[in-house]
Amino acid sequence: MEVAQGIHRLTQGVSNFYLIEDGGKVLLVDAGAPRDWDLLVGAVSSLGRALDDLEAVLLTHAHSDHTGFAERARTSANARVWVHQADAEVARGSKPGKNDGRAPTYLLRAEFYRTLFTLMRRGAMKIVPVQEVSTFAEGDTLDVPGRPRAVHAPGHTPGSAALLIEERRVLLSGDVLVTWNPLTGRVGPQIMPSGLNRDTPQALGSLDALSDVPADVVLPGHGEPWTGGTAEAVRQAKVAGPS
Ligand SMILES: [Zn+2]
Repeated sequence: MEVAQGIHRLTQGVSNFYLIEDGGKVLLVDAGAPRDWDLLVGAVSSLGRALDDLEAVLLTHAHSDHTGFAERARTSANARVWVHQADAEVARGSKPGKNDGRAPTYLLRAEFYRTLFTLMRRGAMKIVPVQEVSTFAEGDTLDVPGRPRAVHAPGHTPGSAALLIEERRVLLSGDVLVTWNPLTGRVGPQIMPSGLNRDTPQALGSLDALSDVPADVVLPGHGEPWTGGTAEAVRQAKVAGPS
């Protein structure tokens, strides 16, 4: 499904990942869950492209429902995999630090089980280590299709980043700002639930890094596209607060 000029959204129902076309080449922002490879292959061929056209995979952060099949893309499509330097070790397979919320808070929510079940079926309970990872830092413009610029916004993970495609006025916000809560089911701009964040107060504070970003469309890691601009999305996410 095309959600912005030359940008296609793929999803297995919980997390989104995006295919970005630029001059015959393709960039993937996030790589779904490990067993979402079939979604990629279907999308690439429906666009009349080959896997060889996939030049790079940019990860918004190192969680298993976003790093997904990145290693497979690296080895079988020869795509370079990128992540912010603060999440690189976890993407390579190191154990992440502890999150600051507790899962029992969500046990009474149907959405919690739906998300858990989908991610289990899709193999996303654990990161498939990416053997070779290139890293970026705050403010870097990457020489990959779409020429995205990294906006570092830590909290959900230490290396969480949003990616701006300035000429299309699109911000791929990863899990820095989402529009659907995978544990409570709440819809609308918000940060991720505490149970999935390394540092929730930091995640709320990091929203400020997005407010001046020149984008009309926000494409999140979870939930539907937002078309009301970054400043309004940030405002609503702050009002929503932690969950
Ligand atoms: Zn995440």
